[in-house]
Amino acid sequence: MLSGTLWPAHPHPLPGESLSCLIVRTAHANGVKVQTFCDQAFGNDFQIWNRDIDRNAPEWLLKIMSSKAGTPIKKIKNTTFRLYEKRLFPILHTASYLRWIMPIKHHHRLNTGYAIQYCPQCLAQDDIPYFRLAWRLAFYTFCPKHQIMMVDRCPHCGASIAFHRIELGRPKKSHVDTLDCCWQCEKKLSSTFVEGANIASIFVKNRWTSLLKTIDRGFYPTGSLSYVNLALLHQICRLISSKKYGEGFAKYISDKGGNTIVNMLSCPVNLELRPIQERHVLIEIAFSLTANRRKLKSMVKLEIIPLHMLYKDFEGELKEYTIKNFRN
Ligand SMILES: [Zn+2]
Ligand SMILES: [Zn+2]
Repeated sequence: MLSGTLWPAHPHPLPGESLSCLIVRTAHANGVKVQTFCDQAFGNDFQIWNRDIDRNAPEWLLKIMSSKAGTPIKKIKNTTFRLYEKRLFPILHTASYLRWIMPIKHHHRLNTGYAIQYCPQCLAQDDIPYFRLAWRLAFYTFCPKHQIMMVDRCPHCGASIAFHRIELGRPKKSHVDTLDCCWQCEKKLSSTFVEGANIASIFVKNRWTSLLKTIDRGFYPTGSLSYVNLALLHQICRLISSKKYGEGFAKYISDKGGNTIVNMLSCPVNLELRPIQERHVLIEIAFSLTANRRKLKSMVKLEIIPLHMLYKDFEGELKEYTIKNFRN
């Protein structure tokens, strides 16, 4: 059935679409279940859904997605986190933690982490509702187009988003009309109350929006995106929410932000694992600090952030840059 040079139906990636979403859409467009499609296209031995396929797709799989759909390989690669290599993190490795990428946890193909977010209005307005790769990024807490908060779970039943499961494990369900649907309760994901993106400083809001828009258009043109600034932004988020440095930060910055930080300190986890509201507040504070280099420098001088912590875990050039620019 899927043996020809091209698959009978071979959708191309929609703007910003993730590989996992493209695979699911391709299966449904060919009228087969996701599991059947994957077995036929990639072989029974290769289990797609117990790994993070957007991150760990092997080269041969990308080649199949490219040749069987007549899509240039570069376009297929850009549906994976390879797109963010050297832009958001140094190199794409398959082990452990990647800066900014929210990890999917697997328990028998069920994603239990809230690693996939969505914008209810984008889904509602799409001709074909689909999931974007960028919706997996920890700083993508609001939609730059609709200026509303992203949603990271089903608003009706609380299940994590897992669009590959809509018919998986349901022998009777073979036809899927839309991915705008919760795999667990089958209600529409887009039908929910929307919450405006609350960012106090217009300056921060503009910078953040422009960063997200750059990501949305696949970095062409790169606009105001700076690898260094993003790495610093991440580092500040990490330090603010750490047990050791968080309290010093909380005292230093204004009461509103300070209180939020103090509340967060009881649970010191990586930014990428925090709930969306916490990420939003942390990144907002970090943005306002990194935007003001003089303020950041004085915090280093006062040892609220010791210099060696500011460049901790940074790779060579980035570390040198940080030392050069923040040494007092
Ligand atoms: Zn949107
Ligand atoms: Zn649900």
